[in-house]
Amino acid sequence: MNDEALSSEEMDELNAELEAETSGSANVPDDVAETPTDELAVVHLKAPCPKCGGAVVVGDRAYESECGWRVWRNILTHDISQAEMEEILRDGESRVIDDFESPKSGKEFSARLKLAASAAADAEADEDTPKRTLELVFVDRPVQSVGSCPKCTSNVVLRAGNYFCEQNTRKGADGEAVTPKCDFVLWGEVSGKTLPEGAVKDLLAGKQTKMLKGFKSRSSGKAFDAALKLTPAGKIDFVFQEKTKKKA
Ligand SMILES: [Zn+2]
Ligand SMILES: [Zn+2]
Repeated sequence: MNDEALSSEEMDELNAELEAETSGSANVPDDVAETPTDELAVVHLKAPCPKCGGAVVVGDRAYESECGWRVWRNILTHDISQAEMEEILRDGESRVIDDFESPKSGKEFSARLKLAASAAADAEADEDTPKRTLELVFVDRPVQSVGSCPKCTSNVVLRAGNYFCEQNTRKGADGEAVTPKCDFVLWGEVSGKTLPEGAVKDLLAGKQTKMLKGFKSRSSGKAFDAALKLTPAGKIDFVFQEKTKKKA
């Protein structure tokens, strides 16, 4: 178990694993195929089979339809609840599920389960061709917001040591390239000093920070202390203590 992000290769691998788990009938364990479902209380889902439009029943280990359409009830360590399966059948995809785990790397990841287009569209296609019934739509794990973006009020999140507006991304929800809707970013390091998160929160709240020690001038190498504030343009400004004024 670890929190590192998945690489795109790993995402492809996971979808391939899912395909192996959900496609075709070749890998149906005997005990599932031979379960005498007529002797059990058969539970029908409140949504029809995407392939034949018939009933989907809750089998021993899979959600299945008479036509052969089937989805395992446990996928990549997540138990798909009946409500989730119904949601997938009804809406085409599930909500974000947070507790998937790659059997290979042990990494946990979040994704939606989406009904593969082929499950519905290829209903007439060759029965012998293995078909993926579900696919994973990867999403970033929910990250905690540090504050609101001073430019667009979206959440600001910590990414690789810097504080980015959530809208400041080149990757859309579907993984495709997008033009960032906002360009706000607060660098986590300013003049050689890593900003404490409290200072970042102050800045995002529109406040001036406390006096911070240990900055270092890039040009002269001189150490200095300063408070920080954000300009209306969203850039950091140093606020120096006025040395000419003496405390009364
Ligand atoms: Zn069916
Ligand atoms: Zn923004």
